[in-house]
Amino acid sequence: MLRGHNYYSFYILLLIFGICTFLYYFDTLVDFAGWEALRWKFFYTVHDIHRLFFIVPIVYAGYSFRVKGALIVTLAAFIVFLPRAFIISPFPDPMLRIVLFTIVAGVIGCFTGVIRNEFERRRYLEALVRSEKDRFLGILERMEDGVMVVGPDYRIRFINPTMVREFGEGIGSYCYTYLYNFDEPCDQLCKLPSVIDGAVEEWEYSFPDGTTYEMIASPFADYDGEICQLGTFRNITQRKQVEMELIELNKLKSDLLSNVSHELRSPLTSIKGIISSLLQKDIELSDETLEMLLTGVSEETDRLASLVTKLLDMSKLEAGVWKPEKERFHISDIIDEALQRQKWVHKNHIYETDLDPDLPEIYADYNQIRQVLINLLENAAAYSEEATQITISAKTGDGNIEVSVSDQGVGIPQGDLEKIFDKFYRGGQKRQKPGGTGLGLAICQAIILGHSGRIWAESEVGHGSTFFFTLSDTLPGI
Ligand code: ADP
Repeated sequence: MLRGHNYYSFYILLLIFGICTFLYYFDTLVDFAGWEALRWKFFYTVHDIHRLFFIVPIVYAGYSFRVKGALIVTLAAFIVFLPRAFIISPFPDPMLRIVLFTIVAGVIGCFTGVIRNEFERRRYLEALVRSEKDRFLGILERMEDGVMVVGPDYRIRFINPTMVREFGEGIGSYCYTYLYNFDEPCDQLCKLPSVIDGAVEEWEYSFPDGTTYEMIASPFADYDGEICQLGTFRNITQRKQVEMELIELNKLKSDLLSNVSHELRSPLTSIKGIISSLLQKDIELSDETLEMLLTGVSEETDRLASLVTKLLDMSKLEAGVWKPEKERFHISDIIDEALQRQKWVHKNHIYETDLDPDLPEIYADYNQIRQVLINLLENAAAYSEEATQITISAKTGDGNIEVSVSDQGVGIPQGDLEKIFDKFYRGGQKRQKPGGTGLGLAICQAIILGHSGRIWAESEVGHGSTFFFTLSDTLPGI
């Protein structure tokens, strides 16, 4: 019971108790010593009044040493009362009055002890809650997510450094002004009333600048016991972008499946049909028919090969695997090479070139740029009549080289000029030869964008089209 500063209380208690006992027996002492001058009237009055002094040490013991202390001091007081009751001045009912006083004083002392205990427990619990809250707020301070506590009056009571970094200072301002720049609480958006009623709310919000936050709000009792809203704000802009890309990829996948399955099936069906005819032993085929059928197989196989190549090219570009391996070369080299191939495949068109004489070297991926030119030349031949002219031009300007491929074919409606670069988009024009995937121009665009260039088309329906692309003529280090 006696620990540390309790010694101090113990000696005070002893002193008070001693003084009370001294006063209680003072008249007896005076009588015994014969100190006539000290025979004060007060000490010869009813001793019940003198006993009242003992309330002080009993209450003090209850306060300092709780119930146990109060009981011990009450008992000690009772023992102190006994000699007077039985020996010094016995009254007719000495025990009754002493016992009554002792019980009342003991109850008061114990009561004091109980109240003090409760008081201390409450103080301890309050301190515990406060320190837990401090710890909790300390954690919130260090959180990567933004955290904000809003009172029922919509005023912000706490924001952590992340929140300050992303939204600025805001303690004391209204949450709707701070977050959304509104003048009054937002009708449908506001979750505060339901959160204060005990609900946990979760929602996403995209701000006009494009950032998206995932917000979770839950009830929180603040220091003053007021139920507030504790909101966490997680910036999920990047995650959203990835999700959008995934959705886009999924769309691409299903587009790819639906387009590709159709495109693959038609040449395969033709090949299968031709081979079935060839296998029919009972039908005699002329040499001419045989050659026609075999040419058909060859063309359909070419179509399949071209489709598969384009699909692979597109998927490599989209996956970022086919990166430009840049080197220095003259664009005229590629133009010559692509033209040779073109003249061999589409013999019946007329080909022209119009190249600036002083074209500088470019810094690009040779194979990719050749692929772009081949795709554009293929289209020019496919969407124009034989014996019409196809022209390749190249000129310099504004630090760029601008290359164009023009034909005198069917042309492209104005509304289609943007869309033709989309994956799998195919216009209504008829190709000179069947086939086509809607991937050729998308591949060209991906390659040119990968070189930080630009690609576009100009056209007049019935008169022809011109496709342009630019490449930077700036060499590394220059
Ligand atoms: P496709 O395999 O269908 O040719 P592309 O991506 O190469 O796919 O072209 C997309 C669409 O752009 C074509 O379906 C066609 O409508 C249009 N197009 C492309 N080049 C030309 C051109 N030189 N003349 C007219 N239309 C063209």
